[in-house]
Amino acid sequence: MVYDIFSDSGVLDFFKIEERKIMAFIAAVCSHYHRNPYHNFCHVVYVLHTTYMMLMRSQVSKSLNRVDQLVLLIAALCHDVDHDGKTMSVTGLLVIRVQAT
Ligand SMILES: [Zn+2]
Repeated sequence: MVYDIFSDSGVLDFFKIEERKIMAFIAAVCSHYHRNPYHNFCHVVYVLHTTYMMLMRSQVSKSLNRVDQLVLLIAALCHDVDHDGKTMSVTGLLVIRVQAT
């Protein structure tokens, strides 16, 4: 499914990214996800799919160039890499900053 999203989005053809290279990248990213109850690779596939659907079904894609689209998909795929599943560090930082102001 992850490969299909990258392929269907057109970024692989546009950047001439070979299938074996994107598959190796996806496998490498997957290997850095832990078996957490939530922040695991299944969650990331869901986020990637949602991102892809928003990209393809909305007007967003018209305002993003191909680099932006590739970065968006990679960010969705990698956003929880090595997450320990115990904390929401980004959310925690936001809460701390809001409370400090
Ligand atoms: Zn996440």
